[in-house]
Amino acid sequence: ARKKLVAGNWKMNGTLAANAELLHGIKQGALATACDLVVCAPFPYLAQTSAELLGSPVTWGAQDCSAHAQGAYTGEVSAAMLTDFGCRWVIVGHSERRQYHAESSALVAAKTMQVLRAGLTPIVCVGETFEERDAGQTLAVIESQLRAVTSALAQAGESQWVNRVVVAYEPVWAIGTGRTASSTQAQEVHAFIRAQWRTAFGTSADALRILYGGSVKPGNAAELFDQPDVDGGLIGGASLKADDFLGIAASA
Ligand code: 13P
Repeated sequence: ARKKLVAGNWKMNGTLAANAELLHGIKQGALATACDLVVCAPFPYLAQTSAELLGSPVTWGAQDCSAHAQGAYTGEVSAAMLTDFGCRWVIVGHSERRQYHAESSALVAAKTMQVLRAGLTPIVCVGETFEERDAGQTLAVIESQLRAVTSALAQAGESQWVNRVVVAYEPVWAIGTGRTASSTQAQEVHAFIRAQWRTAFGTSADALRILYGGSVKPGNAAELFDQPDVDGGLIGGASLKADDFLGIAASA
């Protein structure tokens, strides 16, 4: 069975003072939590996150990284740098990066490879916009976003990397809107993602963890997490309050 995973994506939120309180609360509640708990903090707060969470069952990561290993890339942060701060996870291809920073699926695949090369676990985000869903293109969009990553993985020929990847399905229309996908809508896409993975990599698809993201709250998490192919959640807004985040984790 796949162990459930609940990851918080803080996005561009936080201060040293607010983070200290939030991390403390999460750490306290984590002992009573059965799933894997992850916090993805902004880069400047990774040292603080590491100091606060060290020795707790909660692991942490970043929200993005460079597609390059190192060098003259002003403002960029490499996956290898993240390992210096104890990160285990990196979100790649979040729709906010695809939308506001014009990240293509090819770039997302390159970032995924850098994360794997550094020994970290990528949380690869895919998801359709409202217009794409409306036009009946949901599965085609997911397939194309996912194929960039599966092709890069197949080309790399590192079979153990395949088993490390986590995929997050985040319908763009559900992010920060309070409009979550129904559990049926989520399950349909999650099953499709697992089928794509099976086509590419065979039985390793059985171990692939597929998270749902988009307006997950304590009140709707259980129904989503009960779906056979939903292996946890990627949580935005509700990850900024320890009670909400832990309430969601309690449903996993
Ligand atoms: P919300 O939970 O705020 O909708 O954000 C979801 C998300 O984008 C997580 O990566």
